[in-house]
Amino acid sequence: MDIKKLEQFLQENNLPKFRLGQIQKAIFADGVSSFSEITTLSKELREKMEEEMRILSFEVEKVLTAEDGQSIKALLKTVGGDLIETVLISPKPGTWSACISCQVGCAMGCRFCATGKMGFKRNLTTEEITDQVLFWRQYLKRNNIEGSFSNIVYMGMGEPFLNWDNVSESIKNLIDEKIFGFGSRSLSVSTSGIVEGIEKLAMEFPQVNLAISLHFASDKKRDLYMPVNKMDNLESLRNALKQYFETTNRKIFLEYIMLDGINDTALDAKLLADYIYSIGNTHLLHVNLIRYNTITEKTELNSESELSSEGIINSSSKTRTQLFKQELEKHRVNATIRKSLGEEIKAACGQLAGEK
Ligand code: SAH
Ligand code: SF4
Repeated sequence: MDIKKLEQFLQENNLPKFRLGQIQKAIFADGVSSFSEITTLSKELREKMEEEMRILSFEVEKVLTAEDGQSIKALLKTVGGDLIETVLISPKPGTWSACISCQVGCAMGCRFCATGKMGFKRNLTTEEITDQVLFWRQYLKRNNIEGSFSNIVYMGMGEPFLNWDNVSESIKNLIDEKIFGFGSRSLSVSTSGIVEGIEKLAMEFPQVNLAISLHFASDKKRDLYMPVNKMDNLESLRNALKQYFETTNRKIFLEYIMLDGINDTALDAKLLADYIYSIGNTHLLHVNLIRYNTITEKTELNSESELSSEGIINSSSKTRTQLFKQELEKHRVNATIRKSLGEEIKAACGQLAGEK
């Protein structure tokens, strides 16, 4: 729902201000799927709105639910025909988190990522970003799914800090009490490590959570798998994280996908621990070890390859992940192993849209 367009519509039709509040509540808080459901409005007004406006800026192409019902993925088709993905995850019974996309594709080109392999197509608009949240709110309501909808994570397709204008506007709408009304602390932005963006987030939204897709604690490996590292290397990232602590004094989540034989050795754990200690404020740094969802396409590396001979990257086994965690603990770093949710519905973002 384009909020500015809605305001304009009310103005053009000389409707009183309180109508805006009524409509916003029905759409953003109650999750109605069509204007005709807003029964506090006259029939004529509802019909006019149906004709001239739309609530969602995309059509639903596909919805897949995991067998355990704990994650649901939607493939959405924008007006221009682009496919974007969003996932609803239940991290614990009774709560739902939405993982949303901010771009069609991604320019960052991380070698292990299905979205990265698609390349960059375009930025999503503010409306397209917040509509994903609206879509899930409607979905929960329509399907009588119980539980509270509490967290929004910018961990879908795309790099949030490369579409900051629309992402920051979407955050404003999500935390606006008159619109979505989420608490800032319920939102998380994940970045591959764009230093300039980290600074902006700290200044503009110090209460919004920050997650860093670290994945490698050596520049050599990070350069190879995450081209962003050639621009903002581990040292610049360290300085940005130190500065982030100064400004916000808030926790940072370090994401670490477990890649079999690539970043999961005892030496990698030691490098990770050393990196964490070099940042300082270790009590505010939280490591999440995440299972990797294998993408079927081959990964090409131009320099010396550390991949298996078929060029397919696999997730580290459960045992190896446990060992990695123990290694970290030996170096006084605590980590949480994140359960892989929705592997069978290809919940790693970009996997479904890339398929076509
Ligand atoms: N571009 C931002 C936001 C996307 S978040 C970022 O990179 O942080 C998506 C997260 O999933 C990132 O941590 C990314 O590295 C990770 N990821 C990408 N492909 C994955 C896969 N196949 N399996 C598991 N995690 C994956
Ligand atoms: Fe882009 Fe994030 Fe995927 Fe890297 S991991 S290609 S930054 S979406």
